[in-house]
Amino acid sequence: MIWNLGSINADNFYFVSHLPGAGETIAALEFRQGLGGKGANMSVAAARAGTRVMHIGALGADGGWALERLLEYGVETAHITLMEGVTGHANIAIDAEGENNIVLFPGTNHQITEEMIGAALSEASSGDWLLMQNETNGQVLAAQTAKTLGLRLAYAAAPFRADAVKAIISQIDLLVLNEVEAAQLRAATGRELRQLPVDDIVVTLGAGGCEWVSNKTHQIKTYSAYKVDPVDTTGAGDTFTGYLVAGLDRGMTMPQAIDLALRAGALMVTRHGTADVIPDLKEIRDHRF
Ligand code: ADP
Repeated sequence: MIWNLGSINADNFYFVSHLPGAGETIAALEFRQGLGGKGANMSVAAARAGTRVMHIGALGADGGWALERLLEYGVETAHITLMEGVTGHANIAIDAEGENNIVLFPGTNHQITEEMIGAALSEASSGDWLLMQNETNGQVLAAQTAKTLGLRLAYAAAPFRADAVKAIISQIDLLVLNEVEAAQLRAATGRELRQLPVDDIVVTLGAGGCEWVSNKTHQIKTYSAYKVDPVDTTGAGDTFTGYLVAGLDRGMTMPQAIDLALRAGALMVTRHGTADVIPDLKEIRDHRF
């Protein structure tokens, strides 16, 4: 089972003729609201990969719809707290060329309490996974608690913050990074990935696939991406990570889980949208790459 301490956002998409400049007001041509946030995306991906996922997070009173949607997608929500405050959201303006600008407000994603984390993890069992990213508060306590309980810790260092990764690095079992975050981590630590105290590090390389650094066997392996025609790469990394951890949770070997994650990530870039369109296991198995 996966316990995911993660963000939940409303992605508010405003389709506009051009991006507004300073002081300018423009009317959007179309509006769409989607479920997003790296945490929610990863929970949905893992649930769609067929594993049990308990999301640990927080929503404002305006976030009931997000809770409903997570439930609908198979995510367990008993440890998502509805509280005072505003649900995290991203206001995304997109122009005719697909250029965008984004204002992100973390809202209740930054109001997760120690009690909430403790109560959730007290129900976890040794051998479960704790998954985290960097869009909530509470990672240090959660990592410590998880290790005390014998959980395995997977961490997606996104958005990258050197202090956040350094604070928990010795507790991480599986670290997932994209290419930019990997470079930031090398710069922040002054070390190569193979010198870090983390058993498994997976670096996603977009259309280039991914690289697995195994510090247990001292091997680095690269895997090609599946070939697709990309239309929207949003959420590909989150889908990859959710599937990777779900595969491992279901007892796959790392190469098997990586293969599943590469298929899920590739299918995801052929679709517009985020959590709402993450493919399920059957779609991935049925797809001919
Ligand atoms: P992020 O979105 O976090 O920057 P990446 O761009 O590295 O992450 O993408 C994550 C994964 O999604 C990749 O490892 C790959 O499996 C898949 N992916 C992304 N872009 C493509 C693409 N153009 N073709 C096929 N797979 C892709």
